Amino acid sequence: MVDFSLPEEIEKMREMTREFARQEVRPAGIELDRIPEPEKAYTSDTMRRVLSRAYEVGFHKMNLPKEVGGLGAPPMANIVVQEELAVGDGGIASHLLVAPMIAGRAAMGGNMHPFYKEYLDAFINDTKGEHSGAWAITEPNHGSDLFEFGQPEIQMDTRAVKDGDDYVVNGHKSAFVSNGWLADGYLLMVNVDPSQGMEGTATFAIPGNLPGITRGKPLNKLGLRALNQSEVFFDDVRISPEFLMLPPGPGYKMMLERMVTSGNTAVGIIAVGVARAAYEEALAYARQRVQGGKVIFEHQAIKLKLFNAYRQIEAARALLWKSAWQISIGQPHLPTAMAARTVASDMAMQVTADMVQIFGGYGISKEHPVEKFYRDAKLLQIMDGTNELVSLKAADYL
Ligand SMILES: Cc1cc2nc3c(=O)[nH]c(=O)nc-3n(C[C@H](O)[C@H](O)[C@H](O)COP(=O)(O)OP(=O)(O)OC[C@H]3O[C@@H](n4cnc5c(N)ncnc54)[C@H](O)[C@@H]3O)c2cc1C
Repeated sequence: MVDFSLPEEIEKMREMTREFARQEVRPAGIELDRIPEPEKAYTSDTMRRVLSRAYEVGFHKMNLPKEVGGLGAPPMANIVVQEELAVGDGGIASHLLVAPMIAGRAAMGGNMHPFYKEYLDAFINDTKGEHSGAWAITEPNHGSDLFEFGQPEIQMDTRAVKDGDDYVVNGHKSAFVSNGWLADGYLLMVNVDPSQGMEGTATFAIPGNLPGITRGKPLNKLGLRALNQSEVFFDDVRISPEFLMLPPGPGYKMMLERMVTSGNTAVGIIAVGVARAAYEEALAYARQRVQGGKVIFEHQAIKLKLFNAYRQIEAARALLWKSAWQISIGQPHLPTAMAARTVASDMAMQVTADMVQIFGGYGISKEHPVEKFYRDAKLLQIMDGTNELVSLKAADYL
């Protein structure tokens, strides 16, 4: 029997996160959204404060095992906490999502470079939000291409060439690297064997301060403005083989698909959070705005929009929970994750647009946050692969 009830422990986490999102994340997200220069936003007191509060609570180390000092949260806790954080702000939720990218590698243990142990200690004990990772894969000329396998002529431009035992990396990753500007470690995917096309990609988990690594200006963008994104440049960056996570070959496709399964599930749940934020604001507004002698909630056109939002949010969440559950039992299913994420992000786009409509003229003003949720939702149809590309790839499994 399918069971939607959550253990008491996760329910408590949900309540705590909801309160944290209301008190800390939402106000910070709105402030950061309104700072016109991204560089000022990401170095602002607001950014520092919200990250330090989040790290003090331990959101950054929630999934890391207790043995290494993480919180060891149960698998389904993830999806519940991410939704609540995203109701607060989709950009800050995205930042916290990618933050443990390198610490997660370090927590795997094994025979590894001493950097990882030092990094993991610093990350676990971080109460200021100073340590965080990022995933650098997309390139200026290769976005959707990253999903093209079996075509040797399609390959990444960023190259790693062997020099003795080391690899020397040259090239650059696109302006979309989430947390790319603030990260102090990168999960980096680069071409090592051009004859294999995308299968010739190797994966490294590297410190962000290696000589030759520089960042571009943080991206000035439409939505999710609390999430810093930037280009990352590699100029003769020498990487020790101890930083290699996965060499090129067929294993790369499998690993990418695993990452996309979790990534799409996470993007989908952020979309649910953003849609819920807009829905909750619109519902409250509809219950107090009077037009035609009654609150607008009593007008059928408004009521229908609100119920439509409610049912679409519930439906998207149910599909995402299925994907999260499959991941939690060790049976990740790429097409389910892709279905859930495309449904959720398309839903968020429609729901946020409808909720702006419920506010009438006030919906487009900065007086209410609903216009921000609408802008935030758009990015979720592109993040981790466009919805079109993701749908086409999922269709291959039919
Ligand atoms: C909010 C956000 C966060 C992101 N985070 C990261 C990150 O952390 N790390 C990272 O490396 N990247 C990140 N990205 C990059 C993201 O993965 C890419 O933007 C995405 O994969 C699309 O690539 P592109 O922008 O180059 O578009 P393109 O690939 O150039 O696509 C342009 C258009 O053509 C369409 N198209 C392309 N190929 C095909 C095809 N074969 N068939 C049909 N249609 C096609 C696309 O659907 C799209 O509409 C992020 C992007 C966003 C928006």
